[in-house]
Amino acid sequence: MIPEIEKASIAQIKSYQEEKLRKLIGYLSNHSAYYQRIFKEYDILPETIQTLEDLVKIPVTTKEQLQEFNDDFICVPKREIIDYVTTSGTLGEPVTFALTDNDLKRLAYNEAISFVCAGVQKEDVMQLMTTMDRRFMAGLAYFLGARNLGAGIIRVGAGIPELQWDSILKFKPTYLIVGPSFLLKLISYAKKHAIDLNSSGVKGAICIGESLRNQDFSPNTLSKKIKKSWDIALYSTYASTEMNTAFTECEAQQGGHHHPELIVVEILNDENLPVKEGEIGELTITTLGVEAMPLLRFKTGDMVKAHTESCSCGRNTVRLGPVVGRRKQMVKYKGTTLYPPAMDNILNDFTEIESYVIEISHNAIGTDEILIKIATQVPSDELLVRIKDHFRAKLRVSPKIGFYPKKEIQQLQFPKLSRKPVMVIDKRTKTAL
Ligand SMILES: [Zn+2]
Repeated sequence: MIPEIEKASIAQIKSYQEEKLRKLIGYLSNHSAYYQRIFKEYDILPETIQTLEDLVKIPVTTKEQLQEFNDDFICVPKREIIDYVTTSGTLGEPVTFALTDNDLKRLAYNEAISFVCAGVQKEDVMQLMTTMDRRFMAGLAYFLGARNLGAGIIRVGAGIPELQWDSILKFKPTYLIVGPSFLLKLISYAKKHAIDLNSSGVKGAICIGESLRNQDFSPNTLSKKIKKSWDIALYSTYASTEMNTAFTECEAQQGGHHHPELIVVEILNDENLPVKEGEIGELTITTLGVEAMPLLRFKTGDMVKAHTESCSCGRNTVRLGPVVGRRKQMVKYKGTTLYPPAMDNILNDFTEIESYVIEISHNAIGTDEILIKIATQVPSDELLVRIKDHFRAKLRVSPKIGFYPKKEIQQLQFPKLSRKPVMVIDKRTKTAL
């Protein structure tokens, strides 16, 4: 059930996307108060946007603009809106995302073809280990996608290993939809309760939120740790509310596949121009086929690398490598550019580390400082030295590291209203980026 366009030639995919883009520009110039204003302000005539290369004539849309002019992005009257989603805004107030009935159908299709990437078929049953409520889009997308595909889905929700295992043993799901670190909790629960992991019937996990691979697609420490105890296929999926679209790995596990029916991808540099092929840049997207809140050249804040060679699965669509980091969390530390995920990979190598947070701040002279707060049951100078040495070996620099009580780390990780644990606390004063 791979969509035909994903197997078409790169030139065919491009011209297909351009046709959809022209439609979108027409739609925005008729229905979007925000983009009408932008087109007017920048003297952009809709008919001058014909090709993907023409996109550079249009200014990018930032998260700040989305927040500030939230209502102006909505292209439909309120009676057409079915579902309301919010995402945390960078300026405090959450950003609202509205979806029409057609948007929900599009979301369902998106997730169905993403599941297909990960090998899920109609016969499969998935166990959903994320929340579906709290104005959260992803959980709903998974449910709708399973329904679209005709696969079974068990909505257990987040956490509670006991209930997850009860459900796995009772309903025999073949796939799990889960944040990969939670798989470690399931493994440790299973070991304590004599559950045989490898006869559980689970074939694979569709993993959200955390990376499973290094930039060369080799498994990272987290992935190796999971696979050591539980031999299941791990597929990364990457998505966001603003994109309304997922990038999911196929069986080749060489990055998340782009779905050309749903979204246009640009990888941009600081000047908002496309980076050279193979360079890391900020993922910038234009949604296709969205009715309520289409976005044009929206800068996601995620730094990624695109891979353009055809894939062994038969798809010719671009693949996105693991997210290198958030653009705003880029740290310039002792002459090296770092992103928190690279630090996560190093910290995950130590079984002694129970939990941690990465604090980034500005020091007195305005340069970046990193403090990693670690909770461990075996604090020692020897462990500290080993962690620092590992940092130097992998990243050439070592941040400040300190041991803290577990309770304190937990409080930092789970502030009120947070839907996922906070691993990075960025205390730097925000300058316009
Ligand atoms: Zn592939």
